[in-house]
Amino acid sequence: MANTERKLVHSKSGLRMISIDDSESPFMLTEPQWVPDVECPYCMQCQTKFVLMKRRHHCRRCGRCYCSTCCEKKVSLHRMCFIDPVRQCDSCCEVSRKECEFFDKHIKVLLAGGNFVLVDADVINNNQMSVTCKLSTDHRLLTFEGGPDMEPFQLSSIESVQILTTGTDADGNPLPSGIALKYRNKDEDLKIIKMSIINGPNRRQAMLWVAAMQKAYKMIYETRTMR
Ligand SMILES: [Zn+2]
Ligand SMILES: [Zn+2]
Repeated sequence: MANTERKLVHSKSGLRMISIDDSESPFMLTEPQWVPDVECPYCMQCQTKFVLMKRRHHCRRCGRCYCSTCCEKKVSLHRMCFIDPVRQCDSCCEVSRKECEFFDKHIKVLLAGGNFVLVDADVINNNQMSVTCKLSTDHRLLTFEGGPDMEPFQLSSIESVQILTTGTDADGNPLPSGIALKYRNKDEDLKIIKMSIINGPNRRQAMLWVAAMQKAYKMIYETRTMR
């Protein structure tokens, strides 16, 4: 069982609530280095010169240096675990606001799980088995309940997410029928799991789960390519 105990820590950007366990959730970002004051005589957005009455402000997300006008908004920054909204530049505000939607809505869907039928999985012998796929409470693992004995795997080990489709709706848009995840198992072997949405009362939840998974992967992927 992963340690989900949490503790409060102070950083120069604010109070943070972090997991006591070192290995953090794949959604987490580390705090940036702040651009040193000596390296920025001008606002990095509007080029206003900093003088005694025109002070520098650092964006808590990117660490760049701005005047008060260009870095005035405070927005929640879930990915750095700040308890309160923190000061961010305009472009970071935009990204953080979109992420708020993920942490307010979509992550709950992933935690609640979706019902699927496993199709052509090379991880099992059976051709078709129904499972509930869930994100673990520490956000690190995808787990499988109810079906064949399947090893959970790390969310951060996913290498691609593909939405499976069958047919089109009335407007000609492809209809999602499931999701295929390519990932590395504990032995670093590349695996593919395909899960089909089951028609029935849980269909909507599974559709939402697939959409939320796509958003989660996009967030992790973008962070990976930024480094
Ligand atoms: Zn400015
Ligand atoms: Zn920024």
